Formats: sequence, structure tokens, C-alpha cells
Amino acid sequence: MSRVFAGARPTGKLHIGNYLGAIQNFVALQQEHQCVYCIVDIHALTTLDETSMLQDNIRDMLLDWLAAGLDPQKSILFVQSHVPQVMELHTLLSMVTPLSWLLRVPSFKEKARMQPQNVNYGLVGYPVLMTSDIVLYKGELVPVGEDQIPHLELAREIVRRFNSIFGPVFPEPKPQLSEAPMVLGIDGQQKMSKSLNNHIEIAATPVETKKRAMMMVTDPQRIYRHQPGRPEVCNVYRMHQFFSPNDVQRVYHECTHATIGCVQDKEFLGEQINKYFAPFRQRRQEISTQPHYAADVLADGARRASVIAQETLREVKEKMGLLTRNTR
Ligand code: ADP
Repeated sequence: MSRVFAGARPTGKLHIGNYLGAIQNFVALQQEHQCVYCIVDIHALTTLDETSMLQDNIRDMLLDWLAAGLDPQKSILFVQSHVPQVMELHTLLSMVTPLSWLLRVPSFKEKARMQPQNVNYGLVGYPVLMTSDIVLYKGELVPVGEDQIPHLELAREIVRRFNSIFGPVFPEPKPQLSEAPMVLGIDGQQKMSKSLNNHIEIAATPVETKKRAMMMVTDPQRIYRHQPGRPEVCNVYRMHQFFSPNDVQRVYHECTHATIGCVQDKEFLGEQINKYFAPFRQRRQEISTQPHYAADVLADGARRASVIAQETLREVKEKMGLLTRNTR
């Protein structure tokens, strides 16, 4: 049984990309592993100009997780800042991380380009904090989307370096990709992402969902209704593979024979997404009306996470020569 760790930034409600790329795996891994799932609020601070929505976003993320099937009896669900040992470990790991490794991370360059007014120190250290999140809980498997692979590779390098200097403490974390490691947005070109506003929220209303599905870009070469489409380049078709598994062959046939138009196809996809997420939406609604449930789950999660965190940090400090003899 490996320890699983994953974190997600509380930047709003989950979208289909998060769900297919990561959350589905979070849920599946619970059956056979000890899972630790963290809402990484400190990470969110690297890109926020102001924090008035932070607590609402944390609650939204937890509700999405619970409704998607994360079970607080099985998994540890908690907020990063509630277990502050991670910040101590971040400082310690920053001493074994060459700055050059951090400056070449593609997402750092990308964020620096997107927010030139706020290229803060935390942004450069993001992968070190992410490594600290994982290794504080000795995470071995990390369910993530494809975009996180470079960060995880860096985490493995930091772990290797730490272990080679101070002796083996941390396992090297491995990524666990889902069947949909890179879901495209409704533009059909870029990764689905909140910041690109090309996403479909899984907790959206049926009407909102359909509206977003109708905005999806299909085969750009199919201009007229009577032209056959090319499902292999169509993001709507790709989505059918997840949301309409029983109809996918029919859709393929109808699209390639031009007996269905893109508009009709997108209407159908919208309905299928709504059907797929109906039980999720129902559960989310029920959980959100229980007054203390979310706070209780997070308090219990922080308590359980702290036990592991304290133990690891003590081991790290001992290896690094930070403990006086009588506290060892
Ligand atoms: P962050 O990556 O900052 O924690 P995100 O909300 O972007 O926050 O991602 C949360 C998880 O969802 C990550 O594991 C990420 O790899 C995954 N993910 C995000 N967008 C997609 C996507 N379009 N396709 C597949 N996986 C995705």
C-alpha cells in the first residue's frame, strides 16, 4: 500500500479538466491506498492579488471533492496552512535546491510573463513548496494531470539531492496519470483551465453547462452541415468518449456521414454531461446544507495530517543536524 498525496489550489470550482485529469483518480486510489489530499491555500497566494474569496474557494473545493466521492473516513482531507510544518520543511528543502533548477521551470516563466507586476519570491519557490507538501507526508504516488509532470520531476530531483546529502528519508514521488491527462478547453486548442476561461465547471447548472457545450469548437474544417466531420480532431467527440461511452460509435458514424451536424452533436454532449454529473450535483447540494460538516472534515483532516507531519519533520531535522542531543 503506497501513500498517495495530491494538492490542488483553491482557485474556484472544479472543471471537467480537473475532474477527468485528477479527481477521478483521487477517488479511485482511495480504495487501495492511504490518501492525503490537500487544499493548497499558500500556493494560491502566489497568483492572487487579493484574498477576499479564499475561504469561499476552499469551501467550494472541499464540497466538490466530497461530492465527487472523496471519503473523509478513508482519506485525509485538509488545508495546507492548517498544518504549518510544511512551511518549515519548505525552508529546509530550499537549502538543497539550486536556484537555477527553479528558474528553468516552464510554469515559472509562463506565470512571470502573465503577471509581470507580481513576480514574487514565492512564485519561484512554488516547486519547492510543492515538493514539501508531498514529502512531508512521504507521498509515493501523486495523481496529477500532464501539466504537473515537470514539477514532479523537479520534486524527484530535490528528493534525490536531499537523500544523497543527508541519507534516505523521502521516497521519490511518482506521477499517476489518468486516462485523460490533458483535457482541452471549449476552444478545442488549449488545456482546459480557469485562467483561460475555456472551462466547464462540474457544479454548473444544467443550463450553464449546455451553454458552454454549445460554445465548443469542433472540426474547424467542417463548415457546412452536409460536409462529413473528422471526429479524430474534434474535442466534442473526445468528450463523448468519457460522457457518452454507449453512443460514441453512433456519433462517429453520424459525424463522418454528415447525418448529424455539429450543433446537434454539441446539444447531445451538453445533455450527456448533465446526466453524468446529476448525482454529483445532487450530493453537493445536500452536503452544502449541512452547517458544520465541511469545517469538521477539515479540522479532523488537519489533526491526522499533523501527526504524520510532525514525525517527518523531526526525522528531517535529526538528519540535518538541527536537534540538540537531548531532544533526539
Ligand atoms: P493547480 O495545478 O494549480 O493545482 P489546477 O486547478 O490547475 O490547479 O489543477 C488541479 C489538478 O487538475 C492538477 O492535477 C492538474 O494537473 C489537473 N488539471 C488541471 N487542468 C487539467 C486539464 N485541462 N486536463 C487534465 N488535468 C488537468
